[in-house]
Amino acid sequence: MKGKACRNCHFIQKGTNVRSCERCKSTDFSTEYQGLVIILDPKGSIVARKLGVTRDGWYAIKPR
Ligand SMILES: [Zn+2]
Repeated sequence: MKGKACRNCHFIQKGTNVRSCERCKSTDFSTEYQGLVIILDPKGSIVARKLGVTRDGWYAIKPR
């Protein structure tokens, strides 16, 4: 999947016209990232806890 990964909160947004992160309002993005996790249940996910994710969505484990 093509998208932009927020370097601050790791949230991935689709599309190329993304200007700011809809989660944390950061404008620091990376189009390259290692690892992709889809968080469906933030409260029950160890990965979500590790990443500090509180909402469902697509997240990059390691934005470059
Ligand atoms: Zn963000």
